[in-house]
Amino acid sequence: MGKSVPEIFGCMVFNETVMQSRLPKAVFKSLKRTMMLGKHLDLDVANAVANAMKEWAIDKGATHFTHYFQPMTGMTAEKHDSFISPTTDGKVIMEFSGNELVHGEPDASSFPSGGLRATFEARGYTIWDTTSYAFIKDGTLYIPTAFCSYSGEALDKKTPLLRSIEAVDKQAKRILKLFGNTSVKRVVSTVGPEQEYFLLDKEVHRKRPDLIYTGRTLFGARPPKGQELDDHYFGVLKPRVSAFMHEVDEELWKLGVYVKTKHNEVAPAQHELAPVFTTTNMATDNNQLTMELLKSVADKHGMACLLHEKPFAGVNGSGKHNNWSLATDSGTNLLEPGETPYENAQFLLFLVAVIKAVDEYQDMIRISAASAGNDHRLGANEAPPAIVSIFLGEELTEILEALESGAAYANRKKAEMEIGVNVLPHFPKDTTDRNRTSPFAFTGNKFEFRMLGSRFSIAGPNIVINTAVAEVLRQFADELENAADFTESLAALVKKTFSKHKRIVFNGNNYSDEWVAEAEKRGLSNLKTTVDAMPEFVNPKNVKLFTSHGVFTQSEVHSRYEVYLENYCREVHIEALTMVDIVKGSIIPACLKYQTELVTLASLKPDGIDKSLEDYLLENISKLCGCMLEKLRSLESAIIEAKDGKELLPLAQFYRNRVFSAMSELRLVVDELEMLVAKKYWPLPSYAEMLYSVN
Ligand code: ADP
Ligand code: MG
Repeated sequence: MGKSVPEIFGCMVFNETVMQSRLPKAVFKSLKRTMMLGKHLDLDVANAVANAMKEWAIDKGATHFTHYFQPMTGMTAEKHDSFISPTTDGKVIMEFSGNELVHGEPDASSFPSGGLRATFEARGYTIWDTTSYAFIKDGTLYIPTAFCSYSGEALDKKTPLLRSIEAVDKQAKRILKLFGNTSVKRVVSTVGPEQEYFLLDKEVHRKRPDLIYTGRTLFGARPPKGQELDDHYFGVLKPRVSAFMHEVDEELWKLGVYVKTKHNEVAPAQHELAPVFTTTNMATDNNQLTMELLKSVADKHGMACLLHEKPFAGVNGSGKHNNWSLATDSGTNLLEPGETPYENAQFLLFLVAVIKAVDEYQDMIRISAASAGNDHRLGANEAPPAIVSIFLGEELTEILEALESGAAYANRKKAEMEIGVNVLPHFPKDTTDRNRTSPFAFTGNKFEFRMLGSRFSIAGPNIVINTAVAEVLRQFADELENAADFTESLAALVKKTFSKHKRIVFNGNNYSDEWVAEAEKRGLSNLKTTVDAMPEFVNPKNVKLFTSHGVFTQSEVHSRYEVYLENYCREVHIEALTMVDIVKGSIIPACLKYQTELVTLASLKPDGIDKSLEDYLLENISKLCGCMLEKLRSLESAIIEAKDGKELLPLAQFYRNRVFSAMSELRLVVDELEMLVAKKYWPLPSYAEMLYSVN
């Protein structure tokens, strides 16, 4: 590596240090104000910044620039332009104007818009997001941007995320003011996303069209060795994986992403990476970059990185843990229990705000983690269930319960657990983080939302969390600002809120059947699949949440609802077609070949020699092949039937009920065949070959 980590860290980022050293003082100040407060940027400032950025980028060897945005595909999009501009004497100069920095006009027609495009122009606009740093990757200057339509409707994930950041900032500051804290300029939500992924050898990956086209295995008999082999977890890293991780770290460090931990995960071939947390907006951009780099660096190392949330049936899937909190601009974590009673009262208020937000918007929280791929995880016995609940830990639950009943908190000396009086204990991570089955766990000074699939952009979930918490803080502020006695009203509010929303608190095993029954008794929603959950998005209660905080307009909500359902249908559709293709093109020929060999062998055997093995195999394979043909036909007819002009929601339901179940049935038969047909004929590498392909 040569250079030390501090030397390379952030060396490809146009961060504040670079800005300060390269921008005139007045320009820097003006830009900082824009970054902090989201104020408008003057064109001369933009011109000066663009020029400094260009000089810096050229010094680093960049020749191109691109606006970088996050359409609703879940991926990022970019459109590269070069700095080169011809001069009259046949030479070139390197140019980059303030306008080019601030605005872009990519063609929006190739990105999903959920009907917004039909009513508005196809042109889309990208607008520089000053709150996320520009950086250089592969000789191109990347400028993070928001992406919207001609009339300003959001076509991306960043725009509503930025709006939700504004919303929670505004309401949290109202609360802080009530606690006498008037010096805080900004409250930001912070996120540290833990990212899981699988690594396979590229050669094995290349032989699996299902992995190539859909990201997951559509066939595959269960491995003989599974995750019961716990030697993988925190085990010694294989040299190849270690070399890969080393490069991922280094590349991410250059881009200013501080990756902190890495270790093997539960399943074979599974790994994890976690950055140090930062503001939600940066964390989102950084996580998108991280996912891209994981893929490209793996490729360089002769491996394929799988980001699908469930690449292998019967093996742990990959999730993403969204660690979330609120912090002031001076770095005070608002979900950290304080040193003084007053700080603790504030902590408890923010805590019950999250409890209420998660309870009232549990459907939206669920939707934020819904996708066709994640349907394979949520509710299956590994990821959190589809039921949203909060883990608080015993200690904190007891404190809140004591507050609620007015009883003495048994673990404290004698005093009544009255808000503003007692000092709360600290909650060290090891006593708070034991419950790994909870979808939304308080882990000492933050909440860990664990339902996300590994492929997810973290924008969606954080839009929901930020906005729901903003709404509750708004209600709290309204109530407390008008209170005659602040301390008294505060205590009453904490008590009332916990009492009303404690049904969402569950410290037990979320994987158990008892919890499913108990949750139903408590009236918690259990939206099992994406198709069950998605209609709640357009529920008036949720539309009101987003519109009242200016996070989505009504039409933006509807467009997103459509895009998500369309994405669901498309994903299942592609999987179904891929299955048909693999069965017809490879599985059937393999079965026929093997049967031919068996028939030939049997016919070559003289009379009187035992042929029971050949007979047994032929009989069973023939039977299964007949069954496969039947299942293949019903899948094909389901695919055709899906096309007959259904409305979007019934179409999604059809994909789930008919297409998806036909796929599952076909898979069952094919997996049985895999166990009977000779390996040399079977066209797909086995689960064991894939999961143990990296040595
Ligand atoms: P675990 O594997 O036990 O869940 P890790 O230490 O791997 O935990 O990851 C915890 C993540 O939480 C890290 O990305 C860390 O930066 C992040 N985190 C810590 N404090 C905060 C906070 N106040 N706000 C947001 N994220 C945080
Ligand atoms: Mg975690």
